[in-house]
Amino acid sequence: MTEHPFATKDFARRMERAVAQATEAGLAGVLVTPGPDLVYFTGYRPTAITERVTMLVLTADREPAMIVPMLERPDAERSVAALSMTDWADGTDPYAVTARLLDPRGRYAVSDSAWAMHLLGLQRELPEAGYVSMTTALPMLRAVKDAEEVARLAAAGAAADAAYERIIGVRFAGRREREIGADLAGLLREHGHSQVDFTIVGSGPNGANPHHEMDERLVRDGDMVVLDFGGLLDGYGSDTTRTVHVGEPLPEEREVFEIVREAQQTAFEAVRPGVPCQEIDRVARRVIREAGHGEHFIHRTGHGIGVTTHEPPYLVEGETLPLVPGMCFSIEPGIYLPGRFGVRIEDIVTVTADGGRRLNNTSHDLHIVA
Ligand code: ZN
Ligand code: ZN
Ligand code: ZN
Repeated sequence: MTEHPFATKDFARRMERAVAQATEAGLAGVLVTPGPDLVYFTGYRPTAITERVTMLVLTADREPAMIVPMLERPDAERSVAALSMTDWADGTDPYAVTARLLDPRGRYAVSDSAWAMHLLGLQRELPEAGYVSMTTALPMLRAVKDAEEVARLAAAGAAADAAYERIIGVRFAGRREREIGADLAGLLREHGHSQVDFTIVGSGPNGANPHHEMDERLVRDGDMVVLDFGGLLDGYGSDTTRTVHVGEPLPEEREVFEIVREAQQTAFEAVRPGVPCQEIDRVARRVIREAGHGEHFIHRTGHGIGVTTHEPPYLVEGETLPLVPGMCFSIEPGIYLPGRFGVRIEDIVTVTADGGRRLNNTSHDLHIVA
């Protein structure tokens, strides 16, 4: 799978947006370390994220600059030709090199994935500078996707949908969860995913544990099966869940399924700009609570998605961030009956000016598999 990198101008626009938002938030700049933030700003993924300091420094008063370990400079330059780089050699102090680019009294937004040792190193070097979490200080930065990012998420969603359409044609009864999960992973790759992050196959009682991945359990006739799968296609994430049933379901299974379907649909219909994230969670939770299953919905309603499959914004009680066109997140209510079965339905949704648009479009009907 060949990746289609963004153009230098796309990265430059993101860096400018970061600096503008940081300035507006009263910050001196943004310190970006390896991980999703660095991928977002530069496309650069060091081969190993290590104790050696790599840091992109974004400030209003100078061009973006990247501090790199001397031995990794050739890789970094090949990957990010357009950035000015400063290297440091083993045996020298990388924090002193970084500090020369910073205001000793400035406050900086720092990548959430920065290693503590690197932040502590900077604090030692610049004791009067301040540091805040990038997602707390600049919550809209990566949460609001540009049109090209939404297009990539839509492509990843369509590929996951195609994988689902194929998996419901395979045999479930008499096969192990792990085998079905392997089929799913293969299908995601066949439909263009370069990376598979998870393939949850939760059959029967295993479906009642939202974090159950898959095991050696033999799927049987009569099982509900939660299928939750995703990964990266062209650098952007997919994540979708459908719950299927092996053979004819019991009335109670249908009933629980219908509650989850209604919760998912009602929450989706509540999506529009200006609505706080927590409201989507409340809407989904109200449907499930009023149907008598409030205590069986044991997780938040959704999470953002982008260059990773789980990132802010979170659709959870207490998150008051307003929805903004371009945000992309999951809506994935579920009901989990311990020892019996679980049901979850998950679509990725993007916010548009007039409401939500689903990036997963397979049927929400309870599909009967063999
Ligand atoms: Zn059943
Ligand atoms: Zn999922
Ligand atoms: Zn999810």
